[in-house]
Parts: sequence; C-alpha cells; structure tokens
Amino acid sequence: DRLVTASADGEDQAVEAALRPKLLEEFIGQERVREQLSLVLQAARKRGAAPDHVLLSGPPGLGKTTLSMIIAAELNAPIRITSGPAIQHAGDLAAILSSLTEGEVLFLDEIHRMSRPAEEMLYLAMEDFRVDVIVGKGPGATAIPLELPPFTLVGATTRAGLLPPPLRDRFGFTGHMEFYAPAELERVVHRSAGLLDVEIDPAGAAEIAGRSRGTPRIANRLLRRVRDFAQVRHDGLVTREIAARALEVYEVDARGLDRLDRAVLEALLKLFGGGPVGLSTLAVAVGEEAETVEEVAEPFLVREGLLARTPRGRVATAAAWQHLGLTPPQPARA
Ligand code: ATP
Repeated sequence: DRLVTASADGEDQAVEAALRPKLLEEFIGQERVREQLSLVLQAARKRGAAPDHVLLSGPPGLGKTTLSMIIAAELNAPIRITSGPAIQHAGDLAAILSSLTEGEVLFLDEIHRMSRPAEEMLYLAMEDFRVDVIVGKGPGATAIPLELPPFTLVGATTRAGLLPPPLRDRFGFTGHMEFYAPAELERVVHRSAGLLDVEIDPAGAAEIAGRSRGTPRIANRLLRRVRDFAQVRHDGLVTREIAARALEVYEVDARGLDRLDRAVLEALLKLFGGGPVGLSTLAVAVGEEAETVEEVAEPFLVREGLLARTPRGRVATAAAWQHLGLTPPQPARA
C-alpha cells in the first residue's frame, strides 16, 4: 500500500490500460531498447517471418508489459498474456502453446518463476516450435510430438541473472530496461495528464517526475493523487506548488522517499550517528522487520546513494545528511 511501490495495485491495473502507449514511437525513453527492438521488428516484417524471441529485463513498472503489447501491435499480431507463477505444470504451458495462432506474441511475465518442467518444455517450443506431450507413466510412457505454429515469445524478468543459461540463450535479443531520467518522466507525466484530462504546467510535471523514482508507473500514480488534491482543494490546475503540497500530504518527499525510507534514514543518522549499524538493530529502531527494511526501503536508498551496505553494517553517505538537513558529527580531535 505504499504510494511509491513499483509493483501494480488494483487501481493501477484499472487505469494503466488507458495510459499505455500503443506504438513504439509513442513509447518514451529507453532509447537503446527502442532502437534495437525497432530493428528486430522491421527485419521480421521485411522477411515476412516471426521475429526472434525477445527478453525484457529490468525492475517493475518500467514498461515491459507495455513494450510486449507494442511488439504485437507493430507486428499486427494478437497477443496472449500470462506469467511464470501462473504456469506451474508443464501441462499448463502445453495448453497455452498448442492454442497459439501463427505469428501470435506470447508474453510471459516473471519468466524466472516458472516451474522446472515447464521451463524445459519451453526450450523445445522456442527452438523447434514443438512440444513433446508425454502420455502414460513409467516405462510405458511415450512422447507424442506436437507441432506448434511459429510464434514470438516475449519474456519479462526483473532478474535476468536468475534465468538458467539454456533459457537465456534461446532469446535472440535481450532488452535491458533502465530507470527513466527526470526529463523522460516529465514527458510521461505530460502525456498521461493529457489522457486523463488533467491540466498541468511544466513545473508541476517536473515536480511529480522528480519524486517518481525513475519509474513511469509511480509517476502515473503520483499524478492521480496530485490531480485529486488539485481538484478538491484548488481549481484543478497542477502547478509546482500544488504538486509539492499534495505529495507532502502523501509523505513522498522531493526525492521520492516515503515515510519508511525517511524513518530508516533518520534512525541511521539521529540514533546511530550515520552508522555503521547492523540491519537488525536499524530495523528494531524503526519498528519494522529486518526483511522489510532490507527489501522495501534499502534498495532505493542505496540506488540514490543515500545509504551503503558495508560488511560492518549500514552507513549513511554525505548525501543522506544533506537530504535530511542534518550536520554529520565532527570526528573527534586527536
Ligand atoms: P511489471 O513488471 O510490474 O508488470 P512493467 O515493466 O510491465 O511492470 P508496465 O505495466 O508496462 O510496466 O508499465 C506501467 C505503467 O507505466 C503503464 O501504465 C504504462 O502506461 C506506463 N509506462 C511505462 N513505460 C512507459 C513509457 N515509456 N512511456 C509512457 N508510459 C509508460
């Protein structure tokens, strides 16, 4: 229920469909991935064949699902969407694969979370467009080969390193998605504001972009909360001041830190003089589980260069002191 979480909540899912860019040229940022994909797609169109399988890797909320839909749209092909956790048995995958039509795009989100037998079935399907359906059990079991129409697999993963090499190797192309630059997120905010009929000025869009942690999903979510504030308390126009005040209400600070992130930093600075302090001690100090601090708050703090994980414990950086407006203790004189 954090406003700055990168994974989708129910409201996101309802609104995101409307905010998704439909074509590659509408897709903002990710220049390198876009150029690479555009070449793969153009070449496939020229050859009149299905393109190589595509792997998209990167953190949640950066547009992997959106890109997979764009790939299908650019190829004028239908798309089937499923995810690793939804495919627990090889039979589940066989059912999906055998119902694909020629040229269809199969989007497999969280592909690293598929079961092992399903994964092995996928190798063969990707390479030879074939699955072996096993009939019977024990010594009498036989494999009946089933031909599949050529299709394009678009796999998405937040952890490319977790994919077994045989699976990774079967993708013709891997797009590495990066966090978005503030200027790119500003364009995302402007575009979404247009679609949602929100009046926003450039400084207002910049303010939201700066608090969105490099992630379009968060930018779109913050925009919706700022819109509420602007409509309820003001005349609806989103300016820098309105955006800043709205996000103060929701405890998202100028750099995108939320209540938990700030609590962790504050404890580290105020109680432990900037560290080093052990994770479990820090967690007790903020009244959270160690896992919550480690998995929910720390990744962004580390990414922002506000906190470092060292063998001796967690340490605040100079930027952390500056961000919270505090003065680091002076080293004792000899
Ligand atoms: P997850 O891995 O959590 O499913 P994802 O990487 O698939 O996330 P998407 O669902 O594709 O992310 O994108 C999240 C939201 O961000 C969508 O509403 C989409 O409109 C918006 N978005 C993502 N990338 C862009 C972009 N480059 N330009 C404009 N909007 C974008």
